[in-house]
Amino acid sequence: MHNKPFRPEPFSDFSKPEVAAAFEQGLATVKEQLGQRYPMIIGGKRVDTGESIASVNPSQPDQVVGYAARGGLAEAEAAVQAAVEAFPAWADTPAEVRARVLFKAAAIMRRRRHELSAWMCHEVGKNWAEADADTAEAIDFLEYYGRQMLRLAAPQPLTPYPGEENHLYYRPLGVGVVHSPFNFPLAILTGMTAAAIVAGNTVVVKPSTEAPVIAAKVFEILEEAGLPPGVANLLFADPVEVGDYLTTHKEVRFINFTGSKQVGCHIYELAAKVQPGQKFLRRVIAEMGGKDAIIVDGSADLDEAAAGIVASAFGFSGQKCSACSRAVVTADVYDQVLEKVVARTRALKIGPATEKATDVGPVTAERYQKKILEYIEIGKSEGRLVLGGSARPGGFYVEPTIFADVAPNARIAQEEIFGPVLAFIKAEDFEDALRIANDTEYGLTGSVYSRNRANLERARKAFMVGNLYFNRKSTGAIVGVHPFGGFNMSGTDSKAGGPDYLLLFTQAQAVSEKL
Ligand code: NAD
Repeated sequence: MHNKPFRPEPFSDFSKPEVAAAFEQGLATVKEQLGQRYPMIIGGKRVDTGESIASVNPSQPDQVVGYAARGGLAEAEAAVQAAVEAFPAWADTPAEVRARVLFKAAAIMRRRRHELSAWMCHEVGKNWAEADADTAEAIDFLEYYGRQMLRLAAPQPLTPYPGEENHLYYRPLGVGVVHSPFNFPLAILTGMTAAAIVAGNTVVVKPSTEAPVIAAKVFEILEEAGLPPGVANLLFADPVEVGDYLTTHKEVRFINFTGSKQVGCHIYELAAKVQPGQKFLRRVIAEMGGKDAIIVDGSADLDEAAAGIVASAFGFSGQKCSACSRAVVTADVYDQVLEKVVARTRALKIGPATEKATDVGPVTAERYQKKILEYIEIGKSEGRLVLGGSARPGGFYVEPTIFADVAPNARIAQEEIFGPVLAFIKAEDFEDALRIANDTEYGLTGSVYSRNRANLERARKAFMVGNLYFNRKSTGAIVGVHPFGGFNMSGTDSKAGGPDYLLLFTQAQAVSEKL
């Protein structure tokens, strides 16, 4: 398998009846298994404290998706120790063998594809297409990082030098911690974990408390793929209880974090402090939030632009770091674009994530719904509400919401809301649009819709985001195709799914022998 070049996993085409039927089967399989209990996995052993984290279906909050055993400091310590013990043998395992575990896990995920997606429909409220893309991305990370490790393990090109034999080896760092976010509960957890372990490290994985069940599924798969006990340890816990303990642990050499700016900054600061007995500088990979803008100018195909804005703003209810939360449109076409976006948004079907016809499901948790509704209230004093603005009953639903005539410095134009709330901002001209788009503390993704070559080339240089797209939506980065990571307060720009990512989990050793 790995001697074939990496190619991204195609998305499922649900317009084909047999594909839709297979997805329905995945949903049925999950329904039979709702409400089960998931222990932690530490050193290969199932650990249950008797305490629980209940994971509920946001489309139907009286339905429990599963119960995760809730750990605390004792389990966090046990997980670190298990990772410490497993490290020497795993680091010594040939890279090819480590990579093979990833390729096998990818094959298992491919077989269980619709079931895994169905877990996400139930656990976080992704609709069919969003869940399918998440599963495809998880498979891609496994296939891609496996191949990248084989590349790094091969002899590295060094300049020949007379009388010496020289090599550069990429060695693992040691024990790390993975904190994954709720919004790509399969892909990001899998990618962050797979990269660290294929490079020869061992890890404690502490998933989002909103998505423990899908994390347990990943661990089932890694185990079946032959990952030795202790290489990846699964800890379910309240991050407030165990987060700082793990961040400052003297055995923890790196933290791989994806989540909010606030938590990322906290970890970054705390991790920098060298603890008594600590013999290394701890690395932090922190991928954080966004306030992503789509710019549209007068030369653009306005229908394409409107379609891209709607897909980017309201896909998975705007709960993507790459979601468009600002449409920055030049004055000449502002009213037209607004009208087209409103019309398309009005046509979106809101409903339970498990239903095939649903475009926009719920947001993932009640506390997120509450926060988003608070921002909508703020928005009412900062802009003109043209669509949506309310919750819907039955689940944690928030209507796709559009505010027009928002000032660039308004709170809803500056702060990450992480929900289906879009601010329209009028720009005088293209230069003004670029200035507005760049004027937040973030710098994750951005798009430009234009047919003006000079404008596109100007944006290529001056639009300061880690992932810049022309004439396409701002979401949907593909592993290996669009290495992903942001500038400024969007994070450390790790470029997940890119050729440089694994370097973050290795230290290079140059070995020189005199002949
Ligand atoms: P979050 O910051 O609440 O949580 C992220 C992870 O960190 C979770 O596992 C959580 O349990 C853990 N955590 C929370 N407090 C902690 C602490 N004190 N110490 C250690 N770990 C702690 O984020 P979220 O709500 O799960 O995810 C949404 C956020 O993630 C948004 O801001 C979004 O933009 C961002 N995100 C960024 C990217 C990216 O690639 N840049 C990708 C996805 C999501």
